[in-house]
Amino acid sequence: MAEKGRFAPSSSGRMHLGNLFSFYVAWLDARSVGGRVVLRMEDLDPDRTGEPWTSHIVEDLRWLGLDWDEGYGVGGPDGPYCQRERTALYDEAFARLQSLDVIYPCWCSRAQRLAASAPHPGEERDLGHCPCRDLSRAEREARAMVKAPAWKTALPHETIRFQDLIQGEQAFDLARDCGDFVIRRADGVYGYQLAVTVDDSLMGVTRVVRGRDLLDSAARQLWLMKQLGYPAPVYAHVPLLLAPDGRRLSKRERDLDMGALRKTHSPRELHSLLWGMLSMLDNTEVEQNFKIEKIRKEDIYIELSELI
Ligand code: GLU
Repeated sequence: MAEKGRFAPSSSGRMHLGNLFSFYVAWLDARSVGGRVVLRMEDLDPDRTGEPWTSHIVEDLRWLGLDWDEGYGVGGPDGPYCQRERTALYDEAFARLQSLDVIYPCWCSRAQRLAASAPHPGEERDLGHCPCRDLSRAEREARAMVKAPAWKTALPHETIRFQDLIQGEQAFDLARDCGDFVIRRADGVYGYQLAVTVDDSLMGVTRVVRGRDLLDSAARQLWLMKQLGYPAPVYAHVPLLLAPDGRRLSKRERDLDMGALRKTHSPRELHSLLWGMLSMLDNTEVEQNFKIEKIRKEDIYIELSELI
């Protein structure tokens, strides 16, 4: 089967060094196996995503020379390539999950949901098991008359195992480690997990390379793929970039976003910077010999003053 990797940026801000590093590794990986790359815009949240970020992302990737073969801005057979335009595909998957009886309506507020997913220290509790899961049919019908529900997965105590190409052997007990998660919000907006699962599968993505912070999402997505009868991709979760005090570099570090980086670096310099960071995790000497399996899983500590 033809290999395919992907860039899946959220259009909620300018890309920063952390995203860029993951995309760079995803791009090297796809190219190293002779695969294609797809660009998908993750713009589900109508309040936080969209322009001008979408245009910046496309322009910044092009400036750096991280190219893609199909997707946003270039088209291809598996579009549309922004999530906002894919609702009909999510509706179909949602209806299938409903008919399989593996999702349930939930009327908890966001605050109740957060409290349920944060057990007190020492307390043994399944993450996110919510009282709505146990409501009778009659109670559900009565509540639905008053308020539209969100929909959540009813996760079993089942262990999802997979071999991550960077992080190694993984095992997650779904109910304990992941917890029931939102598939569709009460306002009808689909959740990240469902959209990514449907998109990676229908776009024929075979290699998911992204930041390590999404490692446990792979377990949720593999479970969804199993329910929906989709084949599983392979996963590689890239180490994070951390400040010397252990803090994760994030979008809040404005001096590390692409707007700032483009003022201080040429494309070639930024490319060398990314390669330099990667070399801390890998002994390969030239890009042409890159192999994702050689990357070590330790996070990278970055001295900010050395970058800018
Ligand atoms: N859109 C997500 C982000 O920018 C990444 C999703 C994924 O790679 O699965 O953090």
